[in-house]
Amino acid sequence: MIRSLMRVVILGSMLLPAAASGTKTVSATTDSPAMESVTMEPLRSNGMPLPLPKPDLALIYPAEPVDIEIPLPRPDLAAILPRATRTVTEMFQQQTGGVTGDEATWRLKSGEGLATLLQRAGFKRADAAAAIDAVIGRASLRALPVGLEVRAARDGFAFTTRNGRDLYAIRDPEEGWIAFTAIRPVERYLAYAQGVIDDSIYRAASANNIPDPALAEYIRVMGFSVDFQREIRSGDAFELLYEQQIDQITGDIIATDLHYAGLMLSGTQLGYYRYDHDGSRVGWYDREGQSAARTLIRTPISGARLSSSYGMRRHPISGYNSMHRGVDFAAPTGTPIIAAGSGVITEAGWYGSYGRYIRIRHNSTYDTAYAHMSRIARGIRPGARIEQGQIIGYVGSTGRSTGPHLHYEILVNNRKVNPLTVSLPTGERIPPELIGGFRTKVELVEAEMLATGNLRFAAIDLLPSEGGVQRAP
Ligand SMILES: [Zn+2]
Repeated sequence: MIRSLMRVVILGSMLLPAAASGTKTVSATTDSPAMESVTMEPLRSNGMPLPLPKPDLALIYPAEPVDIEIPLPRPDLAAILPRATRTVTEMFQQQTGGVTGDEATWRLKSGEGLATLLQRAGFKRADAAAAIDAVIGRASLRALPVGLEVRAARDGFAFTTRNGRDLYAIRDPEEGWIAFTAIRPVERYLAYAQGVIDDSIYRAASANNIPDPALAEYIRVMGFSVDFQREIRSGDAFELLYEQQIDQITGDIIATDLHYAGLMLSGTQLGYYRYDHDGSRVGWYDREGQSAARTLIRTPISGARLSSSYGMRRHPISGYNSMHRGVDFAAPTGTPIIAAGSGVITEAGWYGSYGRYIRIRHNSTYDTAYAHMSRIARGIRPGARIEQGQIIGYVGSTGRSTGPHLHYEILVNNRKVNPLTVSLPTGERIPPELIGGFRTKVELVEAEMLATGNLRFAAIDLLPSEGGVQRAP
């Protein structure tokens, strides 16, 4: 029902620009002949050769004057430093052409220094001292953490330093003990996933092994426009493109980033692209550069059930029919309630039948109100400025209430409206000076998704059942 595809992306600069320029990509689900040559080797983005089995020692001793021309003004360390290997034995063989062995892993004990550990691992005292002499200057040996794993063989050892590099010391048959840093092989994978939602987005996502951080970001971004508990219908479909960085030695996932979030909602297509503003701030925008962020969130509580909607109803306490000018979300007492948008607190305290109550003025048009709280969060008082998503209080059953729930109101020009249907203004557009860079990013994301061979929503007749998504012919 759900199809996902992983593609290897090169090690190097930002996700997509390099990937689009003719670098090798590997599809793990096609059965093309290229499959035979699929390897986990990272590809070089700058065309520099892989390190030779025995590199020029001048490159290993950058502190010594060297006779060679460094090819780039600011060389890419990944191109100069060797790649870490799974074992010290492998590295020894690569660097010296020789053979060593007896490799084992030792853990640094409390109060122990590297020299003691090496002697425990079978090094003679003089050898350990010479090896440590070579290491000093490349890594601080004072602050090694207890429990540090040191891989030691007869003629060398290695450990991972705090900056994520590996430090090796090996006994070169000609040069004696040398120490050097190696880059851990981290590969970037792009994964595209799409699927039809039968009941919940969570179930559909977990059926497809979409990683939690990617799903959480997807829900956050889409949550501005969509109420996942109320608006999703069987047959709606999602798609996303995410990237993972994976350490090829340990298999650890180092980072997960969502790049595209798409949703086909009762025939309406929503799609948002991640854009990094000069590395300091991440924004989400539709194709036209309109922000995914709304000024207000429709459901300012998570994990709650809509227990009473807006409109005429028989009041549960008075028994009279009356207009319910808000929505109720049932949730356990103590469930955090967040500010639906940034703004200024205008009320925070007891407010008659509303019990503990907060009202926020977001701008000259919009206010929101929250009632029946068990507790108001610290620092929430009239005049306080708050940010969207900030916790303002906790679910309770104070005032005229039959059980723990949040009563939530949106007010437009002081008139209460239906929070679930009122059309809300969008957030800011992408700044004009960034629109060029943003369009490039959109094209690259689209090209990546196209390259997976999957038909996109726009062109597909989605079926809500086992038939699922069709493969491109
Ligand atoms: Zn209510």
